[in-house]
Order: sequence, then structure tokens, then C-alpha cells
Amino acid sequence: MSMNTQGRPTGVGTVGTSASGSALIPDEPLLFEIGDTEHSGVDLPEVDLGNNRLGGFARKSKLDLAGLTEPEAMRHYVRLSRLNHSIDSGMYPLGSCTMKHNPRLNEKMARLPGFSDIHPLQPVSTVQGALEMMNQLSHWLMTLTNTAAVALSPKAGAHGELLGMMAIKAAQEAKGEAHRTIVLVPESAHGTNPATAAFLGYTVKPVPARDDGTVDVEAVKAALSPEVAAIMLTNPNTCGLFEPQVIEIAQAVHDAGAFFYCDGANFNAIMGVVRPGDLGIDAMHINLHKTFSTPHGGGGPGAGPVVLSEALSPFAPVPFVRQGSAGLEMVEHIEGEALGRVTAFHGQMGMYVRALTYMLSHGADGLAQAAQDAVLNANYIKARLEHLFSVPFPDYPTMHEALFDDSFLKETGVTTLDFAKALIDEGFHPMTMYFPLVVHGAMLIEPTESESKQTLDRFCDVMAELATEAKAGNSERFTAAPMKAPRRRLDETRAARQPILRWERPADLPKAAE
Ligand SMILES: *Cc1c(COP(=O)(O)O)cnc(C)c1O
Repeated sequence: MSMNTQGRPTGVGTVGTSASGSALIPDEPLLFEIGDTEHSGVDLPEVDLGNNRLGGFARKSKLDLAGLTEPEAMRHYVRLSRLNHSIDSGMYPLGSCTMKHNPRLNEKMARLPGFSDIHPLQPVSTVQGALEMMNQLSHWLMTLTNTAAVALSPKAGAHGELLGMMAIKAAQEAKGEAHRTIVLVPESAHGTNPATAAFLGYTVKPVPARDDGTVDVEAVKAALSPEVAAIMLTNPNTCGLFEPQVIEIAQAVHDAGAFFYCDGANFNAIMGVVRPGDLGIDAMHINLHKTFSTPHGGGGPGAGPVVLSEALSPFAPVPFVRQGSAGLEMVEHIEGEALGRVTAFHGQMGMYVRALTYMLSHGADGLAQAAQDAVLNANYIKARLEHLFSVPFPDYPTMHEALFDDSFLKETGVTTLDFAKALIDEGFHPMTMYFPLVVHGAMLIEPTESESKQTLDRFCDVMAELATEAKAGNSERFTAAPMKAPRRRLDETRAARQPILRWERPADLPKAAE
């Protein structure tokens, strides 16, 4: 295998063959490395630049772009796509991320011209169907959560958290209680919770978790004071447990004049079964890309609508859809609005269509069943593996995730990271590692409702075999993993801290003529 000047393995001269990968996983070079800069896949007429209006800014040198024929370009991207693990190619057991199947029906609906070919600035009379779709989605979200208002526009869970906490801040200010500067965040929270509170200028006060992984109402009461603006609590929590005292916690928080922000990223475990509004929440984001099967990974696009209680609904942002005298209308401004808007236009239209399609195709009973199946699948994994792995919180049945710690690996010389890498060699994406932070060497596994018993069994067989191997002292299989992937163990910290974002042409590659 050759290396380029940056030390990156390159497959120059090996198009369609394999430099270091196995036959079906070619080591794919960059477009620039395979494309011949002298050629192009299309015939374009010569351009006469003699009479341009670029004021002397016309390019003097040729664009150094790779020219490929259509089949070459197609093969390049298809081969690249095969280097990725995806939910369409295998089980993706990441906990906390909820990688579930994205039904093709959702995609078909999202491509209907009435949804995909419209523009946010079109006259509302021409987009009544799209507004009705948003209206229906809002209705489903409020009904499933028993809440008074919803803001569809946030573009991710973290964005929704920010909006929900902005609404809480505005509500506290409206009550003349701007002096409340503390937000309580349980130790097991997702990192976005303390980040959101800190971003809004709040002081984050951690609430310790109990030994059983849940939040103690007494610890919350002890932390509450007239300075506390809100609590941010995840339910089911990031340990995969339903908070047994959530109602008492909500009551104590309200009695202290604070609001209850619920991180609803795990709503897929309880949708159609529990309505968070009944538990006393004031604001909650819903990750459509986790709960309602819209695609995610690779950075988006997600959608994080926020539902709001009666007390917070006056602080909802614009825009929103409302019934007007001449049909549905998009309200862009309201008198005395507290927050204005949090995104250009109205958010991720395509995700709304996909989420509503998932809801309508399941029906209310089907959504409850999907949640129950997700919980059943996680408990099945836990039940099949708990004799070989170590369960940090054995007192409760789990919700949608099975959580193990690394004490079963003690003295094996194998770490959680090694174990996860070995899973790659077996054809599975690794589980979530080292999160939640309250669990040592955590392995967090979320099968979702997508997986069949057959797939779960295969996954459990592999996990069991790996655990047995690790305990038998075969640490090489783990510390050297992955051995069958196109790339071996990467320096992930260095890749994150010193990313190489620019490709430099190695001296031995031909360059476009000046
Ligand atoms: C995924 C997740 C978030 C953040 O959601 P994004 O859509 O990724 O911004 C917040 N909290 C929890 C518990 C999550 O799992």
C-alpha cells in the first residue's frame, strides 16, 4: 500500500482493485487521485472569456478538478458508500442515538411534489396541503405528550433544548424572577443539557444519581432554592431507566417556583404509553430523527420540535400554523412575542413529512406497540447477556436500552474500546461506549423496534462469544481489532484535534496544465 505526503494510505493506480482492503471492500482513493485532470465526463463547448464582465477577476489557471466518466464517478461514490456502516446494511446498536429503520414509505411521501417542490415564500393559498401536514404533525405531538403548544422549528434535539430553556427563561423574567440563575442537571444527563443551560448564562448544579441509577427526589429537594430556574431531567434516563419518582420531582420543582424541562430524546421508549404532560413536564424536545424514524447520522438533517405546557405556551416562538379566515396561515409575528424565531423559515419540512408518515402508518396503537417492542428487544438482549456481562443497575427492568459496565472485563487486558472495536470485525457497528459517564466503561446498546429476533440472536451470539473469548485471555483479538475493516485502529483524538481538511496534490500525481 502506498502513502501520500500526508501519510494517508492511497490507492493510486488501483482503481477498482484492492490495495489494502479485501476484494469486496476496496480501498477507495479520492476523486482527485483517480480522476484524470485532462479529461471530462461531459463535452462542454469552449467558453470565450474574451468579453467577460468579471472585472479582471477571471481565473487564470485551469480548475484543478478531476475528470471522470459517469460510470467511474458512479462507482467511486457507490464504493465509498460501502465503506460506511449504515442502518440499511446492518444492525446499528448505538444507545442514546436511536438508529431505527427509516421506512421507504416515509421517503416516498417526502418526495411528493406538493411537499418537496414548494418554497417557503410561496403565497399561503398555494401551500395549504403543506400547512395542513404541519398542523396534523403538531396535533399528534401535542396529543402524544398531552401538552398545550408545540414549536416545530428547532432543527435538532440540542436546538430544541435551547429553545425550551429560552422559553423557561422568558417565563421566569415575565414573573419578575430573573434572579433565578441556577439549573439543576442530574449527573447522568446527556452533555447537551448542561451545555444548553450554560449557553444561556445559567449556573449548572449537578444532582447526584442514586446507586440504582435513578434520580432521588430528596436530592432534588435539597438542591432546590429560590435561585433555581429549572431542572433538566431525561426520562427515560440515559441509563435506560424510567425515573420512578418523576411525578414527585415535578411537584417539588413546581412548588419551588421552577420549571421542569424534560429531555425527550428517549420518547421512543414510552410513546403512546405515557404522556409526559401527565408527569408534570413544562417543556420537552422530541427528536423526530430518533423517535419517529426520520434519518439521521452524519450530522443531519434532524428535527427537534418542542412541546410546551400551558404555563410556557405564551413563550412559544414564531412561526406557527393557525386556522385563519381564508384557510390555514403561517403566523410569522405576534404581538409582544417573547422569543421571535429560532430558525430561518419554519424548519425541516422533509422531516415533518417523514415523521407524520410514520405516525399515520402506525396509528396510535401501532406507536404504542413500537415503543413496547423497543423495550422488549432491549430487555431480551439484557436477559440473554447478563450472565456474561455486568449490569450496573440490576434492580429495574430496562426501558429501550441495555446497559453494561466493564467490570466483567476486569484483569482481561481488554477495555470497553477494544471490545467495541472487535464488534466491527463481526459486522456490527459498535454500541455506544463510555456513556453515560456515571457508569464505568459503559456499553449502551439500543436495538429499537426495528430488529427481528433472528438479528438480536445473532448479535447476542457474537457478544457472548466475544465476552467468553475476552475472559479466556484471548486479548489479541480485541487489542488488535478491527482487523477486517478498511482501516485499522485510528488515532481518533488526533483526527478530532488536528483534522486535515485540505488535500495536497502529491508531487508524483499529474497536475492540470497552467
Ligand atoms: C440525542 C440526544 C440529545 C441531542 O439531540 P440531537 O438531535 O443530537 O441534537 C439530547 N439528549 C439526549 C438524551 C440524546 O440522546
